[in-house]
Amino acid sequence: MDCERAIAVLLEAADGPVPAEDLAQAEAHCDACPECARVKAGLATLAAAPRPAAPPQLADAVLSAVRDERERAAEQARALEAAARELPARSSEPTGMPARSRWRGWERRFAGFAAAAAIVIVGLVAVGLSLPHVATMSGTAVVESAQDRTAPKSAAPPGAEPTAESNYGAAQASAVASAPPYVTLDGLVFRLESVERSIPSALATAGVIASALDDPESDPATMTALADPAEPSVTTIWLQAPDGRALRFRLVTRSYAGDAFALESGTPIARFGEWPTLPSRFAPPASPDGSPTFRYFGSDDRGVRIYVPAGARPLDGFAVAPGTTEDDPARGNPNWTWWVRLD
Ligand SMILES: [Zn+2]
Repeated sequence: MDCERAIAVLLEAADGPVPAEDLAQAEAHCDACPECARVKAGLATLAAAPRPAAPPQLADAVLSAVRDERERAAEQARALEAAARELPARSSEPTGMPARSRWRGWERRFAGFAAAAAIVIVGLVAVGLSLPHVATMSGTAVVESAQDRTAPKSAAPPGAEPTAESNYGAAQASAVASAPPYVTLDGLVFRLESVERSIPSALATAGVIASALDDPESDPATMTALADPAEPSVTTIWLQAPDGRALRFRLVTRSYAGDAFALESGTPIARFGEWPTLPSRFAPPASPDGSPTFRYFGSDDRGVRIYVPAGARPLDGFAVAPGTTEDDPARGNPNWTWWVRLD
């Protein structure tokens, strides 16, 4: 266990119960590390002392931040309600988590963080520890443990996803900066799911793909895409990479009103890391509300906003705005995306 982690555990232990194994490791670290041992002693002194009240200006700042956040949440809820009233009946289901419960979770976590911060600030002053080392260390520790608590479960750190793609190719730096490993077949986007030893027999040719795969330097190579001929629409394809790897890709889809819609790219994707683009028959929207190309229609089955051309219905295809979350099928694409209904 390193200094940062040891102090994070000690701070948590000062606040409530921590796993016995963590505490034992932190204490073992303090036995060997004089600097952390001094922090531990300081915390023990604090624990023995009567608990100090947070400075009044800190309480004011916390309360004011809390009020601002409450206002924002209420405003969002009002905007959602107003938008829902203007929609056709079928798309008026609530989008995502209600603002109220989102707010409550945030309030709890913020209160915990503020209390921890107050204890550290008061503790540093009261115990008079050597500031440069300890202030940096414990500041980091508090911020990190607060982030652990506030980080949404779905936002795994880049590279933590236990699929083949995260280990596949150095070009795949982060899902935010560059796209996942995509290829396009007949305009539809497929995403790498796994790297296998061999391609199953009894597959048939589904088309031709030009891609440099994970090689950022070379020109796209032409490969035959294979698929199960029994599939009514092609959702899984196999490619034999020039270096012999068998790559399995899955069609990128989202669902609206129970129907599957596939991601279409206006431009063929020439190598991993390139994002799908809006088909050129649509002018890129000039505004975040989709205008003048699209208008807001409602939400897909996951609560993501969808947009349609004027007078059109989502069953004829719909658009999704840039910058979705990483767990969305569009995966934070910086472009508008277009989704077509699967037969
Ligand atoms: Zn240490």
